[in-house]
Amino acid sequence: MTYNIAIDGPAGAGKSTIARRVAKELSFIYVDTGAMYRTIALSLLRSRINAQNETQVAEALPEIQVSIAYQDGEQQMLLNGENVSGLIRTEEVGNMASKAAALPCVRAKLLDLQKELARTHDVVMDGRDIGTNILPEAQLKIYLTASVDTRAARRFRELEEKGMAGSFEEIREDIIQRDEQDMHREIAPLMQAEDAIFLDSSDMTIDEVTEKIKSLCR
Ligand code: C5P
Repeated sequence: MTYNIAIDGPAGAGKSTIARRVAKELSFIYVDTGAMYRTIALSLLRSRINAQNETQVAEALPEIQVSIAYQDGEQQMLLNGENVSGLIRTEEVGNMASKAAALPCVRAKLLDLQKELARTHDVVMDGRDIGTNILPEAQLKIYLTASVDTRAARRFRELEEKGMAGSFEEIREDIIQRDEQDMHREIAPLMQAEDAIFLDSSDMTIDEVTEKIKSLCR
């Protein structure tokens, strides 16, 4: 049987940084499910499909092949075979991902891929509905959050490092809007699973959060 750690939480809570670290230190694989939604979003943006139009999205989905590969331990996203990992980190793609992720047909498309990875590997998987929906049997569930200002500041720095930062205010607004969308959608909304452990990382370092999760795991 595999060991699964589920980490859910709002945008910019530090999920991917923490999940990647924990996975590395435990020799598990890190599965970034947000990247999968972002890959579908990129494809929809390229085809100029309106994510509000479920019929159009459903028609486009069979042509969108999402798969993953690992390169030096890093998850790579493949869209119809093209490595799009470098193209999916923009705010535009993130916002589109949040819209598309509210559609049942989009979620259904990624469900098997996510479940299968966890069935066949020890994983640290992060997202919005991992503990509640994808891996309800995960041995350890974490709900990782931080204040809006902390999260906006982190996202701003992350984008700045990539030379992609817009205005701080815009990023903060985007985060608020994306959380709102993710928490209030009908299907698989972001929420803390009953048996998840709540961690607020606002005043914690990456090392502290990583250690905390590893000790919970032990
Ligand atoms: O985590 P990240 O910002 O990359 O996720 C992009 C969007 O994908 C989120 O805002 C959310 O709407 C969606 N998502 C989801 N379920 C997941 C992971 C991401 O709905 N498990």
